[in-house]
Amino acid sequence: MRSKIVIEKPYVEYVHKSKIYADAARLCANITMLNPNNKKTERKVLYFEIDSAFADGLTVNRSDAFVMGLLTTAMENDMDIQFETPMSEKLYFQMVNQFIPIVTENNPSWISPIKLNGPLISERIENTGGVATGCSGGVDSFYTIVKHGIREKIKNYKLTHLLFASVGTLDDDNGRITSYFKNTLKRMEHIAEETDTKAVGVYSNLHEFYKFPYKGFSMFYATTYGACAYALQKILRVYYISAGYPISEFTLNVNKVKEYDASVFDVFTVGCMDTESLSFYVTGIEATRIDRINYIAKDKTAQKYLTTCSIELEGSEKRQNYINCGHCHKCLPALVHLYAGNNLDKFKNVFDIEEFKRKKGKNIGKMMAITNTSYRRQAITIAKEKKVKIPVTAYLWYWGFYKPFFGLMHLLKNNRLVRDVYYRLNLDIKIHGYRNAKYDAFNKKLKSK
Ligand SMILES: [Zn+2]
Repeated sequence: MRSKIVIEKPYVEYVHKSKIYADAARLCANITMLNPNNKKTERKVLYFEIDSAFADGLTVNRSDAFVMGLLTTAMENDMDIQFETPMSEKLYFQMVNQFIPIVTENNPSWISPIKLNGPLISERIENTGGVATGCSGGVDSFYTIVKHGIREKIKNYKLTHLLFASVGTLDDDNGRITSYFKNTLKRMEHIAEETDTKAVGVYSNLHEFYKFPYKGFSMFYATTYGACAYALQKILRVYYISAGYPISEFTLNVNKVKEYDASVFDVFTVGCMDTESLSFYVTGIEATRIDRINYIAKDKTAQKYLTTCSIELEGSEKRQNYINCGHCHKCLPALVHLYAGNNLDKFKNVFDIEEFKRKKGKNIGKMMAITNTSYRRQAITIAKEKKVKIPVTAYLWYWGFYKPFFGLMHLLKNNRLVRDVYYRLNLDIKIHGYRNAKYDAFNKKLKSK
């Protein structure tokens, strides 16, 4: 018999002095499933926790948040989903007839088709008409905030809420995830204040239901982050998902594109996510990454709070004084694009731009080696347009060191001896500028042998 995930009836629980809020409200449901990490069948609570000030928005009479939150782990581990409380009929129809068959057919090497079983409901949920987007503080989310916040002319589509969720994590350590979430939420509250919106922080233990190191969990941000919006259907009518890539890079098979995730087909995913009460829209697909950076560059809030860095999300320690480390695979492309578009100085509060300038050739060369072709081309094109010089040393670092070195490391990544020498000589810190959480994983593995 096929394995299944069983979702019981959702309920709301109030917690005084939770790890996050003075007074929290949680949308909870008991879940029974085979834990993909320890291979044991467990019954435990999945929850979405918010400040109790927003408790009226929690939607207990739908299973949508739980089904959508667990959808990818179900497809990844070949489990059907059974739910007790009705799911929105429209969402179910689109998932069963379009999303699940089409996405699994195009990515058979790591996900498989599953069944959703349970009652359905087509009744609308009364809501307060909220318009929200996920706010990570990064380039794509700021593009949505600027475009559909202050610059949005149609009142019914103007942002009213910014949603910041813990489900974007790439880490599995609950202590680190909680502390990163709390610190970042404060920054999101400042962004909300300056953009005349309300910040809603959603802390969830959804990551505990996914196989670590994450593949599925970090591949499908649209559905996992979207789960938090379904939890709040009594507040939200519109939800914007900021696309990672322009429509020109659309493909349904993630294996065809190097270093990309399922956001390359966000336009399809988001088209399947509506319920009778909540409409999802994908934003930013009309613009390339560098177009988005240029679009937000004049915005004072973006200049103060742009957050591109991924090292804390990955569980690495941040040692810099700035919000952004300036070295990782998210910071470096953003810095190079800001430099190429002649916008670097505007972001001196969030990046150490003097350090970037001191090692300009080396930094640009490294960015060319760690990022995809389209990001590289966009930087060169815009630099030509803006008459910004890409130094010759950038190409020397790229061809003479970073490209061959990273190529070799990729080939030898599973060789224990090479990795041991790599960490013993601190080459990770010397080359990348920070210590990745992979170091802990490698040490743990060594000790267990
Ligand atoms: Zn960074």
